[in-house]
Order: sequence, then structure tokens, then C-alpha cells
Amino acid sequence: EPGSRTVTGACFSRVQPQPLLKPTFVAVSEPALALLGLNTDDVLRDRHGAEYLSGSRVIPGSEPAAHCYCGHQFGHFAGQLGDGAVCYLGEVEVEAGIQVKGAGLTPYSRQSDGRKVLRSSIREFLCSEAMFALGIPTTRAGSLVTSDLYVQRDVFYSGNPRPERCSVVLRIAPTFIRFGSFEIFHPVDDFTGRHGPSVGRTDIRAQLLDYVIETFYPEIQRRHLDRQERNASFFREVTMRTAKLVALWQSVGFCHGVLNTDNMSILGLTIDYGPFGFMDRFDPEFVSNASDKKGRYSYEAQPYVCRWNLARLAEALGAELQSAKAGAILDEFMTIYQDCYLAIMRRKLGLLRQQEPEDVELVADLLKTMHITGADFTNTFRLLSAVSCPAGEQKDRDRTDSVVELIVEQCASLEELKVANHPLEMILSMAETNPGMFNMVANQPEVAKQLEKIGRLKELLVISEVELKIKQRDHWQRWVKQYRRRLAHECDEVSDPAAVEKERVRSMNATNPAVVLRNYIAQNAIEAAERGDFSEVQQLLKVLENPYSEVKENTKRKAAADTHQIPYNSKPPAWARTICVT
Ligand code: AMP
Ligand code: MG
Ligand code: MG
Repeated sequence: EPGSRTVTGACFSRVQPQPLLKPTFVAVSEPALALLGLNTDDVLRDRHGAEYLSGSRVIPGSEPAAHCYCGHQFGHFAGQLGDGAVCYLGEVEVEAGIQVKGAGLTPYSRQSDGRKVLRSSIREFLCSEAMFALGIPTTRAGSLVTSDLYVQRDVFYSGNPRPERCSVVLRIAPTFIRFGSFEIFHPVDDFTGRHGPSVGRTDIRAQLLDYVIETFYPEIQRRHLDRQERNASFFREVTMRTAKLVALWQSVGFCHGVLNTDNMSILGLTIDYGPFGFMDRFDPEFVSNASDKKGRYSYEAQPYVCRWNLARLAEALGAELQSAKAGAILDEFMTIYQDCYLAIMRRKLGLLRQQEPEDVELVADLLKTMHITGADFTNTFRLLSAVSCPAGEQKDRDRTDSVVELIVEQCASLEELKVANHPLEMILSMAETNPGMFNMVANQPEVAKQLEKIGRLKELLVISEVELKIKQRDHWQRWVKQYRRRLAHECDEVSDPAAVEKERVRSMNATNPAVVLRNYIAQNAIEAAERGDFSEVQQLLKVLENPYSEVKENTKRKAAADTHQIPYNSKPPAWARTICVT
């Protein structure tokens, strides 16, 4: 029965999705629906299409179910969580499981209603498809349905309590099993006193593990006769995929926002789009989730958090995985991650030939320059392909100068930088009231970071906007010079440097997206949709499906979305700074 209860000795509970009132399509993803063998026109034309794809009418043959999982949330074992708003519809083929997200109560709904509102569904729908188009492993979204059924979210989640339309995303993935799926066997937790609902059921754990490996890692199943060896290979593969995934996130400035173990896919997919964010201005401390006050899931923390989560998965596998083996694999995580990251960043810089020792530093210096000057992450990378490599010729120098100008143009204003460098009040007041104590802690990394900010802030307080631009230009000229020197090596000993250049530009423009789903862009689409105009969601989907194409001036955008009309590749306007996602 629906509602909140503990489910022991089971990985799934049978449920019935709750029908919506007047379900209607907001948008559909043609390539995602094709994974199910569905044709968009047929789906849209079908009298019951929106009912089927929102779980309001059960597809013949489907046996809907909700998955039981646990998780570590913000560092602590949270006990039973489970599909509280999601209902599994079944599998079309081995490679395509389908779910409806927002389909109502399940045994795992706890205090909530199992519904999702339009704004969060638009974000999940668009970002799933955007990530796929960026080449980043992710669950897919086939359709977005809204309805005349309303719920009200409290102020914490909505910013502004008002009735909102219940909406459902059709989610597609080979499997939705997470690290947390294995945590239902978690023994009593020292810190919280909680335990998993199926603690001690090593029989079910073995069955779940066999299912996952046999179904989704068949080559590992085939390769091993020994169970322990097989399980270690499986854990190594999950570790590799996770490392690669987080490297890809970092490379597009994506911050997941809620990297709890229940949001970590066992296939290394991005799963659960909530308070995610793509960075605008580069800031390693960027936090996309407004309720993450301590910054546990900040941009720069993501690789470490993923490693921590893998350690929780290893624990959850218990006797299925020797802890010495798990430890050795976990010890490799950072190296694997750094190798993946460097490979991707080199490609983003158009370094296609032999790796050089200075490449690591070139990337680090670029990020430092972006940080100091408050440059826009996405746009800076996109602009770099126009830097030309062969020095000497006047026209190359001119072209490079104009790139520097373009980068400087989109760097942060004085006001933006002041806000970004506002250090913790506590540290400032400590420096004033207790200098002795302050000096004692001053060399601790946390404090050092704040001190750096104080230093930057002090500078910012005494310079003008014009002086700031000059400084920013200096920084960029210095880095671009370093970059061009490195690029020149790409043409060493090649017979046709022009061809190398051409290939570099092509490759960079196919690696550095022109457009990502920035918060303000999603917000525009949400506001239009809440007014009943779904055209912006649909048009945005088309743009996000081709993130590497040049963004055209959006002359064709419909009038209803015009209130904040700016091109999709602009850095955020001032109003967008107050957007808060939880
Ligand atoms: P999340 O923070 O989105 O990963 O969700 C954590 C837990 O809360 C999961 O067990 C979700 O299924 C559950 N949950 C999220 N939203 C709802 C909702 N609207 N109704 C019931 N359960 C929910
Ligand atoms: Mg979740
Ligand atoms: Mg969620």
C-alpha cells in the first residue's frame, strides 16, 4: 500500500502510479523516445499518449514497481529512502528501463506526496537531454507531461508557495540501480543508530549483485569464474566509470548539487537532476544547491565526494568484496580521475599531439586566470579556438588580440568580483578583534583561502572599473602567450601546419560547447511554461541537442518568452543572480 513504511527483505515493491488530472505534453525528446521504439508523431497524435507516458494509464503488460534503496545523505547514513516519487514501469529491451518520475505515492514517499512540479520537471527533462548531447553519460528523458492537478511546495523548495502543476518526466536508463541500492543491507550505523531495512540478508545482496553484473556488466561475468575476482573487477569498473563521469562534469563546469550515495548510478550515469548548476563565472568553490550551506558538494569537492561514495559502496558490498582489494582500487581513484581530467582538458585546449609535462600547469594557470578575472567558464573555452598558433604574422597577432578582448569583455565587473570575493565575516572579525589567534590559524588551508579572498577584495576596493579591465587584460595576455607557445609545439615538424590548425579548431569547437543549460536559461523556459507557453522549452531542447553549433541570434524566439530575451550563450544577466535552486 502507498504511504510511508519500512520494507524488509525486498528490493522492489509493487505500486500503482496515481493518475494525473488532464495530462498534457509539454515536450518530447525524439531521440530518447526512439530508444523505446516510439515515434514522436505517433506519441503526440495518440489520444492516450500523455496518459501512458505519465503513468496515468498503465501500459499493457507493465507491472509498476518502486525500488527500495538507502543512502548516505550529506555524509550520514539516512536509512531507507527508496523511489518516493518514482515508479518503475518496466523494460522495453534489456537496454531500456523506463520510469515515470512524479507519479505519486509509493511505500518510500515518507512525508511527501510523490509528486513533482513543473519547474523541477523542466530542469530534469532539459538537462538529461542536454547532458546526453554533450556526450556525458546520463539517464535520458523521453517526455515531459504536465497536468491540471496541483500541489503546493513549502517556501524552502519553491521560494514562493503557490499551487503548482504536477508534472511527470518519463525517465529512461538501462538501470536505475544506485550505490544506495546496496545500502539496504547496512548494519546499525554508529553515528545515526539507523540500519538498512534488509540488514543481514546476504542472500538478497548476492542476488542483487549477480543481477547487476550479469545484466549490465556481462563481459565481467564472462571473464571470471572466481566470485571474489569478479566482484573486484566489477568494483574497479564502477570506479573507472565514476572517475570518468566526474572528470566530464568538471570539464563542462557542471555541479550536481546532491551527490548523496542514493544519487550515484551503478552504471556511472548522471542521475537525479535537482539543484544542479552549470557554472557561469569560474569559481572552484561554486555550490549549486542553495541548501548546501557548508559547500559539501561544491564543484571542487566533486571528485573527492565521488571517491568517498565509492568507499560507501565498497562497504555496502560487505563480504562480497575483500576490503584490501577495495582499498587498493580506491587508492587508484584520484590517479584515474586526474588522467581522465587531463585528457579531456587537453582536448578542450586543442592539444591533440604528444602530452608535455607543462600541460598540467597550462590548464591550472588557465583556471587560475579565469578565477581571478571572473571569466565565464563556457564562453572562455569556446573563444579559445580562435587563438591562432603560428606567431610572427601580424594578422595572427591581431586575431589573438581580438580574442583576448572578447575574453576580457565577458570577465566579471568590479561589482561581481567584490561579491565573489566577500570572505567569511567570521574571519574578518577575527582578524580585527583577535590578531594573535588569527595568526595561529592563518596557515590552515581554509583560512588561507579566505585570506586570499581578503587580499583580492582589498585590491578591488581601491581600483576603478577601467583599472580592473586593464588588470584582466594583463592576466589574459600573459596566459594566452603561454598558450600560444605551447600550441606552436603542435606544429613542430609537421609538413602542413595549416591543416593541423584547421583540425585543432574543428576539434575544439566539437569539444567546447557554445551553450549549456545555465540556470537563467532554464528559468526563462520555466516562467514561460508556467504561463502556459511551452514553446520556449521545446525550442531550448532543440538548441541543447546541438550544443556545439554556433548560437544564432535568437531572432525566431516567440514573443511570450521575450521578457528576458538574450542569446543562449550570454553570461547571466543581473536579475539571474538571485535564482535559488534547492
Ligand atoms: P533526492 O534528494 O532527490 O535524491 O531525494 C531523496 C529521497 O527523497 C528519495 O528517496 C526520493 O525518492 C525522495 N523524494 C524526493 N522527492 C519526493 C517527493 N516529491 N515525494 C516523495 N518522495 C520524494
Ligand atoms: Mg535522488
Ligand atoms: Mg531528486
